[in-house]
Amino acid sequence: MLLEVAELTDPESIVGPVLVGGQLLQRRTSVVLRRMEAGPGGDLAREALAAFVPEQVPVLADRDGQRLSLPSALAAELLARVDRVESQVSRYQVGLGLLVEETWQLGGDSVPLVYELAPGEQAGRLRCQETGTPTATVMRDREGHLVAAALTCRYCLTASCGSCSAPAWPCGVCQIIVCGYCAQTPGDRAPRCPACRDLHPAGWLERRHYSRLLAPRGRLLLGRDTLHQVALVESMDGWQLLLTENGQDLPPTPVDADSAGIDLIERIVAAS
Ligand SMILES: [Zn+2]
Ligand SMILES: [Zn+2]
Ligand SMILES: [Zn+2]
Repeated sequence: MLLEVAELTDPESIVGPVLVGGQLLQRRTSVVLRRMEAGPGGDLAREALAAFVPEQVPVLADRDGQRLSLPSALAAELLARVDRVESQVSRYQVGLGLLVEETWQLGGDSVPLVYELAPGEQAGRLRCQETGTPTATVMRDREGHLVAAALTCRYCLTASCGSCSAPAWPCGVCQIIVCGYCAQTPGDRAPRCPACRDLHPAGWLERRHYSRLLAPRGRLLLGRDTLHQVALVESMDGWQLLLTENGQDLPPTPVDADSAGIDLIERIVAAS
């Protein structure tokens, strides 16, 4: 039986996935043999030997099962003989892929990334641990999940994905990104940020500050936390959301009467 190499991945040409904020320390590769169905035909044995011999291809084993590599001179001699083997010997086309094991440094941690490259494939991808989708860029969140996307809580500055406990999520009223711990809903994603949990009817001085927007007898709710102030102002055109960060008033945003947020706001207003 003869194995003809129809496709291969050269370890020198790997384009690995990227761990955001990390540094690649080490990469180890091992050959993965794959049977090819009626491949493209070209026998790439010479290229395979150039890429893998003598370091990579474990072609011999000694009595202890230790893997030994084939010296390149011997490999070249064998290759010349292979070309003279008679045609009745059955030939199989195979591809040489790679199993890649990388070690990355991220902060004080060492993070392993493992992926496989099919024969001929160069670009390594990892499966997002939240969605299962292959991705070329991964982030490591606060629970160690390697994911394609994670949200960073504005309050505690940690990143989390949907598989984390108490993950970060936009506040249902003001849309600031807040995690369940900082919103004090540790079992779940955060429905509201601390400021929006604090929303309460404003006093006369505060009403004066928002008088340009406020409808006559319109309602005004205010809430504050360490990052910002949230104001819900009932204007002539419906509810407006006004955020103040670092002492700066941001432009008002009308709350869409059809949005999911309006239900939440109506409930907060009714309860206050
Ligand atoms: Zn947080
Ligand atoms: Zn996660
Ligand atoms: Zn909020």
